[in-house]
Amino acid sequence: MKITILGTGDATGTPVIGCNCPTCQDAHNGGKSQRTRFAILVESPEGSVLVDTGPDLRYQLLRQNTKHIDGVIWTHGHYDHFAGFAEFHRVQYNVDVYGLPETLEYILGYLQFLHPKKNERNLYEPFELIGLEFTLFEVIHPPVKRSVGVMVRDGNTKVVITGDTQRDIPEKSIETIMEPDLLIADAIVPPTVQVKKHMNTVEAMDLACEIKAKKVVFTHLSHFFKPHDEAVKEYPLGYDGMVFEYL
Ligand SMILES: [Zn+2]
Ligand SMILES: [Zn+2]
Ligand SMILES: [Zn+2]
Repeated sequence: MKITILGTGDATGTPVIGCNCPTCQDAHNGGKSQRTRFAILVESPEGSVLVDTGPDLRYQLLRQNTKHIDGVIWTHGHYDHFAGFAEFHRVQYNVDVYGLPETLEYILGYLQFLHPKKNERNLYEPFELIGLEFTLFEVIHPPVKRSVGVMVRDGNTKVVITGDTQRDIPEKSIETIMEPDLLIADAIVPPTVQVKKHMNTVEAMDLACEIKAKKVVFTHLSHFFKPHDEAVKEYPLGYDGMVFEYL
């Protein structure tokens, strides 16, 4: 299994339009602070699945030289997680999409004209795609009523993607995602910045400790971090195009 973090940005991406902070300047200069919106590519010898389709998807798929998408899993109905679905329309038609029933209903209201193939899935019920096992687990991301993270298993290897969430996820989710080889965690800001709908770095690290993650990488990052090369000395920040491969 191969995991590529296509986009590590928050809803605005970095640089933020109109911002001239040191981190946005680093992004403008082509540094690793340049963060496109959320999408993760999961690959096996049998194919490719996207976890979320942020608005920068066309550029991301071109950069990765991705040729075909076998399925899309949506974590929740926020613009920065689904709006890029149309970015490969006319390249592929009738793509299989997966998620909770209400998530699919909401997103397909927006993307109806693309006629994706709807595959409703329930919490904590594993399903197979491209020879890998995927499980949706509940996270807490108000005002979204039900929002999910995604666990991927390949034999004994376990990768957990939190999606957008606060720290206090349900106990059943904690039990489900225990001891992953890799935790890709929403950590939108350092603890000096207040947020309500996401984890900050301290909370994300606390979650990683609770579930005994062997490795953790932070994503959904805002421009409130120092420029990447400085901030990464303090936090395990991901960057666009970061790859994890398990054989
Ligand atoms: Zn988001
Ligand atoms: Zn900025
Ligand atoms: Zn969100």
